[in-house]
Amino acid sequence: MAVPKKKTSPSRRGMRRSHQAVRIEAHAECPNCGEAKRPHHVCSHCGHYDGREVAAAGKPLKGVVRL
Ligand SMILES: [Zn+2]
Repeated sequence: MAVPKKKTSPSRRGMRRSHQAVRIEAHAECPNCGEAKRPHHVCSHCGHYDGREVAAAGKPLKGVVRL
């Protein structure tokens, strides 16, 4: 098994973890129901896109925005 030669310093560890922050996903308000949705995607809450219903409402779709 490969073993590190030196202990990782708190500075090195912090530099490695500087890219791991959780970002807020891109989101937009659904014009139909006001729920948060992904831009340019069908609303996962009401199934509307571009002012009309294109998917069954209430059915959970992939890509729900978590704020
Ligand atoms: Zn909606």
